[in-house]
Amino acid sequence: MLMLSGFEYARGEFEKYGFELTEKQYGLFDKYAGFLVKYNENVNLTAITEPDEILSKHFIDSCIILKYIDIPQNSTLIDVGTGAGFPSVPLKIMRPDIKITLLDSLNKRIVFLQKLCEILCIDAEFIHGRAEDIAKDLKYKGDFGCVKYRENFDFVCARAVANMSLLSELCMPFVKYAGNFIAMKGPSEDINSGRLAIRTLGGAISKIYEYKLGGDARKLVHVIKISHTPTRYPRSSGQIKKKPLG
Ligand code: SAM
Repeated sequence: MLMLSGFEYARGEFEKYGFELTEKQYGLFDKYAGFLVKYNENVNLTAITEPDEILSKHFIDSCIILKYIDIPQNSTLIDVGTGAGFPSVPLKIMRPDIKITLLDSLNKRIVFLQKLCEILCIDAEFIHGRAEDIAKDLKYKGDFGCVKYRENFDFVCARAVANMSLLSELCMPFVKYAGNFIAMKGPSEDINSGRLAIRTLGGAISKIYEYKLGGDARKLVHVIKISHTPTRYPRSSGQIKKKPLG
């Protein structure tokens, strides 16, 4: 199925942000766009359905992480509130060595992602659940009682899921000691309001990258874990909303 506007156009768009796109990667993005738009007719996944916008606002925006942050070979990465796979699936297309885990609280989105990854022959782990439950390893104690998800990822990323304080409580518990949390944010979002939460959860902001995607301003917040997240976090979703960390 041909969906995007051709390899040369896509290569030019990726090049603007310093990425080299291969024909194989283009083929995967093209299939991804086609399947996304078709599936979106019946299941609400995205408001963006115009091919050039999918390329820019979903695919290239997801890959921006690779422009600013060094992700070592074979790193583990969990995408919290991944929706239709952003940013982790485009990252995996550009960097097949990264081991991705896709987490979302809506099962219909997880089912879409399972089908998508089968079509694209992409290896991924899928988790249907709320981040605040999974990060406590309430459901997943494993065969030997060992923790499977908590503080077990080199990278934790999220795009368009929650404000900085709430998002930090959902994401920081998954980050390994000395690992990374990457929050992708819009221009009007207040990062300062999340600083206390980040500190409480064991993180420190390493850098805030500001960039433009087309004409739109975006921010990428890079947090490093400098101490373990206290076991009382994350709290239940009710508590998090009622009494945000700061
Ligand atoms: N990250 C995707 C993107 O940038 O297109 C999806 C963003 S969508 C606005 C937010 C997603 O987060 C939804 O798919 C929703 O189901 C999921 N979500 C919200 N709260 C969550 C939670 N506590 N745990 C897991 N997923 C959650």
